[in-house]
Amino acid sequence: MILLDRVTKVYPGDRTPALLDVSLHVEPREFMFLVGKSGAGESTLIKMLTYEERPTRGKIMVGGIDYDDLRRKHIPHLRQRLGVVYQDFKLLPHRTVYENVAFALEIAGVSTREIQRTVPKILELVGLQDKGHKFPDELSGGERQRVSIARSMARQPKILIADEPTGNLDPETSWGIVRLLEQINGFGTTILVTTHDEKIVNMLKKRVVTLKDGRMVEDQKKAGKYELGGEAQKPRAVRSVGHDFSAKVSDVSKARVVKPSVSTATPKNRPVRKVIKRI
Ligand code: ADP
Repeated sequence: MILLDRVTKVYPGDRTPALLDVSLHVEPREFMFLVGKSGAGESTLIKMLTYEERPTRGKIMVGGIDYDDLRRKHIPHLRQRLGVVYQDFKLLPHRTVYENVAFALEIAGVSTREIQRTVPKILELVGLQDKGHKFPDELSGGERQRVSIARSMARQPKILIADEPTGNLDPETSWGIVRLLEQINGFGTTILVTTHDEKIVNMLKKRVVTLKDGRMVEDQKKAGKYELGGEAQKPRAVRSVGHDFSAKVSDVSKARVVKPSVSTATPKNRPVRKVIKRI
């Protein structure tokens, strides 16, 4: 579950907020697109979720973790709940595909044996079972993004955030990446994707949340479309913003606060699909 309750972010030195009173509730297993023009606040919202930035006001909970209780030192543990994929992949250039994925587990303290079991399964999931020995510069853009997804899924997070995952890819490759995200979603992982790719959004017919000037101006719950027309042309644009949120706000106080844990246990000898399905 992702919960933002009236989140406002004003960067130091800025007069206008990058986010203003944004409230959002993403259910477990949901697939959601976050769209907006450049400068609308998508990156800021993602940084709120990844704890790279803190809100000026408002409350954030992700995967049962109340960010008011989180400290920077707990961020590695947050990664167990929340995987992040970036537009520019952020791979380690001098490590192989296998090592890039293994590294995510190493820093989490997972045993070598467990790493040896898990990495091949994750690589198979993303279709890179034969590329483990390659270095990032020996891969296509789409393959690099698959490594990045594999790395973010290595710890089997419940939530995967992909910030413009297809921004550097051609349409066909982009489609493959989105299909992979959809497949991972099918195993039970909540997915939040920021994108400017109208075609992909319109083809997938998932929930679409639109930001404009830091405000949430549209929340199309099902079969959403990519529409950045804005409120002026579309009086209905704000129709479900803040919609039945009062009920959700109470969730914040009622929700069980789970302290970040360091456990990285992975069920043994279980295919990745089953492992992910379990989440
Ligand atoms: P998007 O991802 O939709 O392009 P951003 O979230 O990056 O938008 O930016 C939203 C607004 O916040 C913009 O006006 C931008 O200039 C401002 N902003 C973003 N990051 C910073 C920062 N680190 N310091 C000051 N202002 C920022």
